[in-house]
Amino acid sequence: TDIQELLLSRIRDVADYPEPGVLFKDITPLLADPAAFTALTDAFAEIAARTGATKVVGLEARGFILGAPVALRAGLGFIPVRKAGKLPGATLSQAYDLEYGSAEIEVHAEDLATGDRVLIVDDVLATGGTAEASIQLIRRAGARVAGVAVLMELGFLDGRPRLEAALDGAPLESL
Ligand code: IMP
Repeated sequence: TDIQELLLSRIRDVADYPEPGVLFKDITPLLADPAAFTALTDAFAEIAARTGATKVVGLEARGFILGAPVALRAGLGFIPVRKAGKLPGATLSQAYDLEYGSAEIEVHAEDLATGDRVLIVDDVLATGGTAEASIQLIRRAGARVAGVAVLMELGFLDGRPRLEAALDGAPLESL
């Protein structure tokens, strides 16, 4: 579609970042273009409405930039899922495996309630490890996952089948 063409034209490929052999998808040109940023926000907000979301969760750090305007556009609250040690209140935390080593993410337990339906927003789906850990975190907080919305998925890393297994019927939408 025209919107997909616009979004694609504002994503920059950076070779050998953050390490040799990686082709990094950089969304800063998209953020700098208000027409593209608005189109992205509107598309995500439409997914939030369609999935019946009651909250938007953004994954640190680019999920904060993308998720916050989506939450406001959809009339929903925004909740940050952060890397361990950054949130001041009582948190739930979830560890997950990386290619080398492991990582841990956290959410403020009181930000999510039973009955909430959460749309998870991020820029890139790679292996799906981060999004899968977020799904577990949200469920442990007593809320349900309405879906996962990403700007793009790196298909060769097989994040989609992994995430669809974890999503249990909720949609994975990639623009
Ligand atoms: P995953 O857990 O392997 O799916 O990695 C996804 C996380 O890494 C997301 O939070 C992304 O923001 C980040 N990420 C992975 N690859 C890229 C990339 O090429 N560009 C921007 N972010 C990326």
